[in-house]
Amino acid sequence: MQVAIVGCGQLARMLALAGLPMGMRFSFLALPGESTAPVDGLGRVVVATPDLEPTALYEQLGQPQRVTAEKEQLPIALLRGLAPYTEVHPNPEAIYQCQHRLREKATLEACQVPFTPYRAIHEERDLWAAGEALGWPLLLKHTQEGYDGKAQWRLTDEAAARQWLQGPAAGTLGPASGQWLAEPIMPFEREVSLLAVRGREGHITFYDPAQNRHRQGILVSSLAPAPDLPAGLLPQMQAALQRLQTHLDYVGVLAMECFIKGDQWWVNELAPRVHNSGHWSQQTTAASQFENHLRAVAGWPLGDTELQGAAAMLNLLGVPVDQHTMLADGASLNWYNKTVRPDRKVGHIVLRGPALDEVRGKLNKLQSKIYGPDF
Ligand code: AMP
Repeated sequence: MQVAIVGCGQLARMLALAGLPMGMRFSFLALPGESTAPVDGLGRVVVATPDLEPTALYEQLGQPQRVTAEKEQLPIALLRGLAPYTEVHPNPEAIYQCQHRLREKATLEACQVPFTPYRAIHEERDLWAAGEALGWPLLLKHTQEGYDGKAQWRLTDEAAARQWLQGPAAGTLGPASGQWLAEPIMPFEREVSLLAVRGREGHITFYDPAQNRHRQGILVSSLAPAPDLPAGLLPQMQAALQRLQTHLDYVGVLAMECFIKGDQWWVNELAPRVHNSGHWSQQTTAASQFENHLRAVAGWPLGDTELQGAAAMLNLLGVPVDQHTMLADGASLNWYNKTVRPDRKVGHIVLRGPALDEVRGKLNKLQSKIYGPDF
């Protein structure tokens, strides 16, 4: 089966590496300015240009039987244009709902899934109203740009808000501008994500939930299964994710990132794709998130997601590859073939073991070796 992937980053690379043994062949669509190094040697790369018609694009991609995407911030018209020629999964409308924070919140509301409170900020007065309603400090987020905590501002008080209005927000406000939203700083105790894969016939399988640690908005590590979740929480989260996938008529992996405090939880955001917090599945489950995403997209039987024991994932952020350290203690290294730059995700390590405590110990040890004790 010929599959085209929109995007040429590490997620595209790992999808292809999972699909090749199942008899898939790949082509990739590079968005303008995107580096294609992670998919070097894995299939043909087509560079998207504004004048490329859907027919020509479909031909250049090798007439794929399926199209999927490794990112949500992509021109949705491109996917809609390909849909008459081939099957696109997840469907373009599902990605459209998830690629804009205001539409995403509306989808969560429609599916009765708890989410972080917010106010849309179209005009200056919306910001003051948000401060009144949600209280300072506020977290200002762009509705489309930004990932890994980028395009976000923590506004401690009204003076900081005035600076933001004159700085990042300058020229972007107006009736129904739809570019910004404000959230309170959530008092969460931990961040947990849940990934589900939904097949073409509607069958849904879950991966174990992962507890995630971020540093300056960037994911550093995940531990699965998330330890000590209050009784009843996981079934609620699974039911919510199932409602979302069914509502969106979703095929493939959908990730749900949540904040948790006691037995309360709120969705922070959805990712309509394979997700960094599920990378541990690569070397610890019979069918990783990458393999199952492709099985779903192809319409093939889904594979086993069960995690025996425990797993951890450590992101490699801006560090050079060092196999002697990174392969010690039975670790698996997944390097993305990217140029190393400060804080850039250039690879990750997967650790496994029979019990959480042992894996957590290995994770902490490896993290200090790579980043130093104070990281
Ligand atoms: P995001 O880009 O929305 O996924 O945010 C990146 C990270 O910033 C999250 O994983 C959290 O650690 C933090 N964050 C995002 N929104 C909030 C919020 N409303 N309150 C507190 N922390 C947040």
